[in-house]
Amino acid sequence: MNSIWPLKNCPRGRSKTRKIQSLTLPSRSYIIPEPLGTCLIIGAWNYPYNVSLVPLISAMAAGNTVILKPSEIPLATSAAMAKLINDHFPPEYLFVFEGGVAETTALLEQKFDKIFFTGSSAVGKIVYQAAAKNLTPVTLEMGGKSPAIVTRDTNLKKAAKRIVFGKFLNSGQTCIAPDYVLVDAAVQEKFLGFVKAYIHQFQYTFANGNYVQIINEENFSRLTGLIAKQKIYVGGESDLSSRYIAPTILTDVSFDDPVMEHEIFGPILPVLSYTHMDEAIAGIKSLPKPLALYLFTHDQVIREKVFREISFGGGAINHTLWHFANASLPFGGVGQSGMGSYHGRNGFVTFSHFKSILEKPFWLEPDLVYPPNTPKKMAWIRWLSRL
Ligand code: NAD
Repeated sequence: MNSIWPLKNCPRGRSKTRKIQSLTLPSRSYIIPEPLGTCLIIGAWNYPYNVSLVPLISAMAAGNTVILKPSEIPLATSAAMAKLINDHFPPEYLFVFEGGVAETTALLEQKFDKIFFTGSSAVGKIVYQAAAKNLTPVTLEMGGKSPAIVTRDTNLKKAAKRIVFGKFLNSGQTCIAPDYVLVDAAVQEKFLGFVKAYIHQFQYTFANGNYVQIINEENFSRLTGLIAKQKIYVGGESDLSSRYIAPTILTDVSFDDPVMEHEIFGPILPVLSYTHMDEAIAGIKSLPKPLALYLFTHDQVIREKVFREISFGGGAINHTLWHFANASLPFGGVGQSGMGSYHGRNGFVTFSHFKSILEKPFWLEPDLVYPPNTPKKMAWIRWLSRL
């Protein structure tokens, strides 16, 4: 399959015309999108269809060929994607290559025109290094410790409800889940009361389908190891045989606690308190730039301060997670939480190169730009470039 968009076939509607500058007159300027070529897409295990197929569709829409390497951890899901795609598409167009670390390492030794990776920052570094050998452009969609900030002026009840929803969806195994909460000390007790009530109200059990298992034993023991017994406000119960960890709230937590070292990625929510917003901001900035930030406030000054002072991938005011669902918002992290973005039109941009073209007619040939240079010509050029 031809992965290059031939210039003569480039639909007029898709080549975007651009503003011209007086110096370049007469001319017209436009950009022509072209596919990057053969792309490698590496997926993570949580939401395995979403993080594999959404970038794959963007890559296809931009005209690329793709090798997809889904996460090996949800084995049956990986096998289902391989069967559905490999049985129905020519392998030189789309191909699902299943496997774990060894297979991904072997793939990363090949030369691709684009690598799109979703996963941890630790593996993101490996992918980036492998891509650098061939100067392959990368998009890295990673995670981090995404904070939720709750100020004293907000609707505490709804803030609690929305944070509980965002945190315990998929048992906290969501890259943009609020990792921890920073709440104004003056309203902490009241806020925690609402959190407890909503955990109860949302009925998080396997039996009713509102709750899910921890993906594997490795993550189960990592997570249970983060639950400091003396800090449990709600929850703390766990069962290895069913890989169940109850929705757990930890209080009296500080930025020095082990639970604050790495992304939690499970149903444990540490709640920290602050007395001044500067303190909360300094705490967030002491950690790598997060993938998401959620701010619960009615105060415009606080909004502006938080957005000006903290760098993060994206987020929401007065809710959690929903920015992910709006395809017109580019989705991606910054710093340790990611590089580049996708979703909607941005996915097309991520998997495209844009050729910039300036087209000149022959009917006018001002001698201004051609040697020999004279003071008069230079004066004209200076005047034109100011227009
Ligand atoms: P991971 O980094 O362990 O694995 C991701 C992919 O890399 C898998 O396909 C895996 O096979 C491969 N891989 C693992 N180790 C490798 C190695 N040493 N060399 C080469 N390839 C290797 O991540 P995960 O556990 O699957 O997913 C959890 C992480 O992904 C969390 O940090 C989460 O925040 C992040 N995540 C981010 C997004 C996002 O959109 N930003 C979405 C989902 C998950």
